[in-house]
Amino acid sequence: MNITSKLPSVGTTIFTVMSKLAADTGAINLSQGFPDFDCDPALVDAVARHMREGRNQYAPMQGVPALRQAIAAKYQSLHGAAYDPDTEVTVTSGGTEGIFDAVAAVVHPGDEVIVFEPCYDSYVPAVEVSGGKAVVISLRYPDYAVPWDEVRAAITPRTRMIMLNSPLNPAAVILDADDIAALVRLVDGTPITIMSDEVYEHIIFDGARHESMARHDVLRARSFIVGSFGKTYHVTGWKVGYVVAPAALTTEFRKLHQFVTFSTNTPIQYALAEFLTEKRGYPELSAFYQRKRDLFLELLAGSKWKPLKSRGTYFQLLDYSAITDEKDMDFALRLTKEHGVASIPTSAFLYNQSAPKVLRFCFAKKDETLKTAAERLVTL
Ligand code: GLN
Repeated sequence: MNITSKLPSVGTTIFTVMSKLAADTGAINLSQGFPDFDCDPALVDAVARHMREGRNQYAPMQGVPALRQAIAAKYQSLHGAAYDPDTEVTVTSGGTEGIFDAVAAVVHPGDEVIVFEPCYDSYVPAVEVSGGKAVVISLRYPDYAVPWDEVRAAITPRTRMIMLNSPLNPAAVILDADDIAALVRLVDGTPITIMSDEVYEHIIFDGARHESMARHDVLRARSFIVGSFGKTYHVTGWKVGYVVAPAALTTEFRKLHQFVTFSTNTPIQYALAEFLTEKRGYPELSAFYQRKRDLFLELLAGSKWKPLKSRGTYFQLLDYSAITDEKDMDFALRLTKEHGVASIPTSAFLYNQSAPKVLRFCFAKKDETLKTAAERLVTL
């Protein structure tokens, strides 16, 4: 039976394609973003304890109260932002669910949503499946700065939302104070909402500050801020994230969340609540990943791979123009099959512009993994 596709230009996500190819060929997988080392064993013990103590039924739709309180307390202490845990914090089944629900809660057919490319591959489909139109603005290689004049020119009476991601996957750049000031000038006094994907909020390098939407009144008032415990606690497979947003936005958000997943894994929420309340893990995460970034770059020094600046996330873009003229997808496939290292081509995140000659490598890996991968890469 044939059905008319709602997403005719969407295929299988690049992360599934490249991780499968890495598995099939036995390549080192620096493609899909996930650690190849384990989480804190105490976190697993805590989950097991909550399971044994019988916390195995549905969690409240909004999330376990202790976890929502811990999330709210984190925003208060890091950003001076007050979110009501009962009406403004929702636990989701991963960041991707939070992004989808935020878009679906806000976007009506015919609405326009501004997205910046390169952008995470779920954004545009989320807009389109709600009948919205993605207005794609290009961040240009190699600095990926936001062209705020173009953003201003792209805003129309139909603009319903701006989707932001800082630190930015895949380009590893961050919004700074000037970007925030420009954004405030653009949206102040308008009905434009913001979906701010801040899942790499705790992985930010060289002493920079994470400019959360929560820090700025004009932005906080209109933002769905999406977070992810997978990135922060090395548990991407647990698929637990959250969304904080003002009460009026959260009310609409929960109308979607309650029918998309209803609620999220109960014992894991209890365990994460303990870790977050004790401020475990996230304060040292930037230093942990900065060391891995620096190790990876040291191992590649003197090779034909030219690193771009990675300011946050656990990704590093490497320019391969001194190695080959191939398109990024072709080269990523050949690099996996012939040289045993899988990466992600940035063309998967692009709509309007042609892809630069760079590949994205994930350095959330054991030092040995990074060493073996680098040994292979430097031979090119
Ligand atoms: N966020 C991860 C990445 O960019 C992928 C998550 C997924 O595969 N859905 O690599």
